[in-house]
Amino acid sequence: MGYLNRKNRILLFTIILTALMLAVMLTSHYVSPTSTNAADKKQTKTPKNIIFIVGDGMGMPMIKAYRTFKQEKHSSAKGQTVWDPYLVGMQTTHPDDPRDNITDSAAAATAMATGKKTYNNAIAVNHEKEPLRSVVEAAKEARMKTAFVVSSDITDATPAAFGTHNVSRKNKEQIADHFFDEKINGEHKVDILLGGGMQYFDRKDRNLVQEFKKSGYSILRSKDDFKSQSSKQMLGLFQEDELDRAIDRPKHVPTLKDMTQAALTQLNQDNQHGFFMLLEGSTIDSAGHENDVVGAMSEMEDFEKAVQAALQFAKKDQETLVVITADHSTGGFSFGADGMTSETGYKWDPAPILAAKKTPVYMAKKIADGQSVNEVLHTNIDFSLTTEEISQVEKAAQSGHASTIQLSIQRIFDQRSFSGWTTFAHTGEDVPVYAYGPGKAAFQGWIDNTKQGKNLFQIIESSSTYRP
Ligand SMILES: [Zn+2]
Repeated sequence: MGYLNRKNRILLFTIILTALMLAVMLTSHYVSPTSTNAADKKQTKTPKNIIFIVGDGMGMPMIKAYRTFKQEKHSSAKGQTVWDPYLVGMQTTHPDDPRDNITDSAAAATAMATGKKTYNNAIAVNHEKEPLRSVVEAAKEARMKTAFVVSSDITDATPAAFGTHNVSRKNKEQIADHFFDEKINGEHKVDILLGGGMQYFDRKDRNLVQEFKKSGYSILRSKDDFKSQSSKQMLGLFQEDELDRAIDRPKHVPTLKDMTQAALTQLNQDNQHGFFMLLEGSTIDSAGHENDVVGAMSEMEDFEKAVQAALQFAKKDQETLVVITADHSTGGFSFGADGMTSETGYKWDPAPILAAKKTPVYMAKKIADGQSVNEVLHTNIDFSLTTEEISQVEKAAQSGHASTIQLSIQRIFDQRSFSGWTTFAHTGEDVPVYAYGPGKAAFQGWIDNTKQGKNLFQIIESSSTYRP
């Protein structure tokens, strides 16, 4: 500003300072933490019910991609997810591990379920392998009803850390046993268990399905079973392992939304003491590990519909806190990749993903089982493939390995959509936190993931029915 004289500089400075002060005054009035309006009071009120929601492996680029996918699919949509309006902050994800500073789902779930950080693989135990008390145990001590609804096997890291204790997430049969054996005041810790993982319950050495049945649980094996079930307690295991991706799922297998609604209907009956529900879109992570953008978008969609059902319940009920977050990001997914050119445009393109009728996992399996590459690709993909794309898959098919074929099909979708991946594992950045309903104020800001558990304990232990 060499051309301004001293007087003009002072005048300009004064104008800028005044504008800044005005902006600060206006903003601070707008978001004043000391404001005592009704909305703020509602935020700090103690909720009766809690729905804690995890998008496993759902980092910000995945959410951004899903918004774009959704907008393209329903041209009328605003391009936002149902949880976007409720963003309250971000949380850290790192474990307390002598070797690792990137978390796995076990350490992240332990942090959120117990308020304490631990090593990767740990299921609600500390470094000394001692059990860490979980919010679900506190909920049972407060006589709340409890439910887990997930798209993985119910013994997977997240539900395991909220409901059981183990030195390793890999001990799935022990984890299944603990869902039955570990009790609070003589009661099973989780009243409603819905997801996959039948193989860990119906075993040669122990039949936990029968044991749960004898103990009064309704046993559900298909979506139709929801119509006829009458018990307050349910064990619904709909596939042997985790549920197939929503886009590939057999008809008898419920959506995450089907399971969420069934659980909420049951939890809301004779609901004197409130409930705690864990809802997880578990297989967003699985698709991320596979670097499968088609599977990831399918899981995000399945997850969003379930979250919508939870939010609808909370909006009607007005006594329910809903927290939505992720445990970490998976795959190093990036919204845009491979040096977009003036010819292709500077974009991430959801159109090729929408043209897939099944995931590359599904298609690769068909090819590995002997179906022709041409037939499988043409039946399941709604755009015309180039000769190079087809020959790339044919070359992979010669290996006979489904995983090699899968990667070759995924490459087609990645290249056409400009999706990038950097790893088959997790990445360590912070993830978003969303909250709706009474009690949401405690989740605001940049928080450590242990704050989730600490907040949940505080809410549950302040209940008048809490008896430790
Ligand atoms: Zn994972």
